[in-house]
Amino acid sequence: MSRRLMTSPLPGRFGHKHLLGIEGLSPDEITLLLNTADACVEQNRRVDKKQSHLRGLTQINLFFEDSTRTRTSFELAGKRLGADVINMSVQHSSIKKGETLLDTAMTLNAMSPDVLVVRHPNSGAVQLLAQKVTGAVINAGDGSHEHPTQALLDALTIRRRKGRLQGLLVAICGDFLHSRVARSNIYLLNAMGARVRLIAPPTLLPREAERLGVEVFHDMRRGLAGCDIVMMLRLQQERMQGAFLPSTREYFHFYGLDAEKLALAHPEAFIMHPGPMNRGVEIDSEVADDIHRSLIAEQVEMGVAVRMACLEILTGRLRNDTGAR
Ligand code: ASP
Repeated sequence: MSRRLMTSPLPGRFGHKHLLGIEGLSPDEITLLLNTADACVEQNRRVDKKQSHLRGLTQINLFFEDSTRTRTSFELAGKRLGADVINMSVQHSSIKKGETLLDTAMTLNAMSPDVLVVRHPNSGAVQLLAQKVTGAVINAGDGSHEHPTQALLDALTIRRRKGRLQGLLVAICGDFLHSRVARSNIYLLNAMGARVRLIAPPTLLPREAERLGVEVFHDMRRGLAGCDIVMMLRLQQERMQGAFLPSTREYFHFYGLDAEKLALAHPEAFIMHPGPMNRGVEIDSEVADDIHRSLIAEQVEMGVAVRMACLEILTGRLRNDTGAR
């Protein structure tokens, strides 16, 4: 049997070999991922968190950019499902000696990983790599393009709290220009019937944003009115060349989430942030740490479950209790 057949069966209701983005996934495929992740949350809350669905499989995490939450949770996810997990840090690899992305991909491919989890600073790089390897590839964030597992974990967090995604009003606020998180969230929320408002200064919001099927606001107070979810984005200063803002102090004044601006949202609105947070820049500590309103820690918990679900589905080692709802 060829290796491709052994390691990458396309599971019945998920029609993709790789997970490169949310764009192109159907509502049924998103629901399958979320339902599978729901079952993983229960597993992760047990004392014995280990299962063996992925026994015998190899997962390589290849990160060309820094990461805390994403890399750690992919590692935990693979280990909780019984896979052999290897973390490749670019710092200690031949990439430092000038090896190209594709040569690195071919080298790793020769070691027969079943899943490659890849983060890269360039949009499109993960897709390029996926064309060269035999196993399944999961995009763990490519440039400002997509971060599909972040959008899935955000959706899972919202669905568990609100019981649905359909019909919710979600505000995504801040540095949209550089945000792969925002893009993936917009695709997912639109596909699942939520309404999205994008709130940002004109310099951080390209014109094309309106073509994504969202309402655009430059005035945060107006944009937040009546929203069920307020999702804040990090100001990605490492991706900015040139002056996008007069100062971070002024940015906080107009676009930072504090208790006064939050009061304009729905009285039961929840606050989210993908992390890492810039406290006092895009979010005030008082709201970030509000245990009744902030879902930030819960997002991290859901991250492990969603990544387990992605691994199970892409390897075809799906658990049984994932009926659509
Ligand atoms: N951790 C997220 C990402 O990798 C968000 C951020 O860095 O601001 O895109």
